[in-house]
Amino acid sequence: ASGSDENDVVVIGGGPGGYVAAIKAAQLGLKTTCIEKRGTLGGTCLNVGCIPSKALLHSSHMYHEAQHSFAHHGVKFSSVEVDLPAMMAQKNKAVAGLTRGIEGLFKKNKVNYVKGYGKFLSPSEVSVDTLEGGNTVVKGKNIIIATGSDVKSLPGLTIDEKRIVSSTGALALTEVPKKLVVIGAGYIGLEMGSVWGRLGSEVTVVEFASEIVPTMDGEVRKQFQRSLEKQKMKFMLKTKVVSVDTVGDGVKLTLEPSAGGDQTTLEADVVLVSAGRVPFTSGLGLDKIGVETDKAGRILVNERFASNVPGVYAIGDVIPGPMLAHKAEEDGVACVEFIAGKEGHVDYDLVPGVVYTHPEVASVGKTEEQVKALGVDYRVGKFPFLANSRAKAIDDAEGIVKILAEKETDKILGVHIMSPNAGELIHEAVLALHYGASSEDIARTCHAHPTMSEALKEAAMATYDKPIHI
Ligand code: FAD
Repeated sequence: ASGSDENDVVVIGGGPGGYVAAIKAAQLGLKTTCIEKRGTLGGTCLNVGCIPSKALLHSSHMYHEAQHSFAHHGVKFSSVEVDLPAMMAQKNKAVAGLTRGIEGLFKKNKVNYVKGYGKFLSPSEVSVDTLEGGNTVVKGKNIIIATGSDVKSLPGLTIDEKRIVSSTGALALTEVPKKLVVIGAGYIGLEMGSVWGRLGSEVTVVEFASEIVPTMDGEVRKQFQRSLEKQKMKFMLKTKVVSVDTVGDGVKLTLEPSAGGDQTTLEADVVLVSAGRVPFTSGLGLDKIGVETDKAGRILVNERFASNVPGVYAIGDVIPGPMLAHKAEEDGVACVEFIAGKEGHVDYDLVPGVVYTHPEVASVGKTEEQVKALGVDYRVGKFPFLANSRAKAIDDAEGIVKILAEKETDKILGVHIMSPNAGELIHEAVLALHYGASSEDIARTCHAHPTMSEALKEAAMATYDKPIHI
């Protein structure tokens, strides 16, 4: 059915960027085909990223709560154990249900779905080696590259997805490793480290830089690291991994200080390599049609998501910008709106970032370090969850809200939240920043009591005046 009839839009890649672009294009009345090689839709995010990781974070949190918190709430039972196959099955069920859901949305919106590996023959033709073993050529007036990203490996290291794993292997381990070493203290490493730590692994995180999650506000980062350390996560910062070798049943890492110095060794049952992700364009034939990329291999696009080749666009992890699912989705919608002759817009400065550990850390806008670097006069308003009645009521009061606002105008520049559910709480702040709100706007907005959201209101009060409850 894809065959030779020409599409208005062809999307290569069915991740959050690609599938959202395809649905939006079809909704705008454009004849659309989406090509995906994986066999299921949803991309990295749904199959081996956001969704399975959140499933395991939730399950492992429940186990941790059962072990460490329930008794304080007067809920007692004699023993609690982990059934790892059942935990994995619930994760797999969630993933399978959601990927099928997207296929349903494709049908509903009349997006044509071609399963196979796409490569450019020309700027308006994609040859697809189909999963069934054939080949078909898909033609389109506009082609959107949404091929996403892949795990970044490290030199001299082979990922076998059993003992030396990427996030994909870490989402599917068949037993709880006694010792887990995580290479890279970004959000993926910390989330997966949390999962296995809660299930019983001794977790050591090795990081080349002097800090964990470099994009985080420094003050919040310090509290966050302390919180993870309380959960028994160990950190070796400013440490370089020299080599990783499988020895017997385990793995031996050779380390040295990032600045150089004496080598040490570290043993592990499983090593997770989470040192970043790289754009994925392998086998796509970009050179054949002359699409420009930067040194990191990211496709260069203008503000309309157009590459240097007319009719060829790119969105999501394969272009510069935050490598996040919701950013890819926004790109997809805006790109298609431009193609349809409408206006589209994505503000990369207001893409929220969330680390889904416990507590979660969520932020939008600028960090205090960034505000300082801009040379803007600013005020800081903070409020601890220890003084928030709902957090106290549920005995889960670790964390803080921090708001940065311009001194002269009170306009909010950045909001940082560490708390349970911070990833949900942040959106009030995202909206406020989009509307150019002042901290007083939030402070004078009636917030329901008792909610965690009240901490944001109080931090806003603290920014230009005084909070009530501390
Ligand atoms: P992808 O999701 O990578 O999709 C690209 C798709 O294109 C893939 O399915 C691939 O098979 C297909 N493809 C590639 N080349 C071809 C070709 N030539 N022909 C046909 N098909 C092709 N982000 C968040 O926002 N929140 C999170 O909580 C979060 N958690 C994560 C946890 C983990 C463990 C990982 C690894 C990532 C996480 N991310 C998260 C990041 C998120 O997954 C990505 O930002 C997002 O998936 C990018 O979407 P995309 O559509 O650009 O690319």
